[in-house]
Amino acid sequence: MKNTIQINDLRGMISQFAGKYPEKSGEKNVWREPLLSAADLQGEKNRERFAALRKIAADDHLMPWELMPSAKSLIVFFIPFTKELASENHKGEIPCRNWGLAYESTNRLIGKICEYLRDELENRGFGCELTPATHNFDTVRLMARWSHKHLGYLAGLGKFGVNAQIITPSGCAGRMGSLVTEAETGDHPIVGGRELCLHKAGYKCLVCVKRCPVGALSEKGTDRQKCWARLNENLENTEELRGMENTTHVCGKCQVLLPCSLEIPPMPSSNRDS
Ligand code: SF4
Ligand code: SF4
Repeated sequence: MKNTIQINDLRGMISQFAGKYPEKSGEKNVWREPLLSAADLQGEKNRERFAALRKIAADDHLMPWELMPSAKSLIVFFIPFTKELASENHKGEIPCRNWGLAYESTNRLIGKICEYLRDELENRGFGCELTPATHNFDTVRLMARWSHKHLGYLAGLGKFGVNAQIITPSGCAGRMGSLVTEAETGDHPIVGGRELCLHKAGYKCLVCVKRCPVGALSEKGTDRQKCWARLNENLENTEELRGMENTTHVCGKCQVLLPCSLEIPPMPSSNRDS
């Protein structure tokens, strides 16, 4: 039996499914075209690449083969938000209600995409293992044992910005999902080796740092406790998020209306930091 699946088949599947989803589900369409990358988990070199998760994400981060010992590939995808939603969430210091609703509906979409890909792959004879879209983290250390963002980074879906988000070819305003499978996909990154964040590439920016209402971001990193406190406060005390699920921890001010929100920011020729 053939053990491989073509990356274009996977990309076609997710694109078709996500395209039809708003009409089928009745959910408001707040999404652009999904992006998908895949990574080979086989061989010593690839295993070493993922061993970095214990250094860059959390020291007890699960290895993909711990989630599924027979896994041969990792699939990571990004669902970018629309410009309209991002613009709406830019106003003020409190997230808009639609941002909270989009967080919930996108988590449902991610769950449905994972189930759909699993069913399609299982029909072809490949087992899969899924993980939840969110809240798979330790609420004391605020570190995920399965970080879609770090996995996306290692699978070449994008690069980290100063805002601790992954900048993909469709920007950083959106959400990610992932799964592991017994199918062999090979390596299919969608970005190369260069930094995509203006600051990290040596240009002036740090717009995201200025946007954070509680000063949780700096060029040195994110103060997770400060950010988490703000997300809880938003959920508990704001009219905008009243009645939402108890996992709707949102803010997103450091994801919207930035040079990297909707695309890879063009690197200017004249404003390099010296
Ligand atoms: S706003 Fe600027 S500094 Fe912040 S992540 Fe985006 S490109 Fe980098
Ligand atoms: S999500 Fe909000 S509180 Fe957290 S770092 Fe971004 S802007 Fe700051």
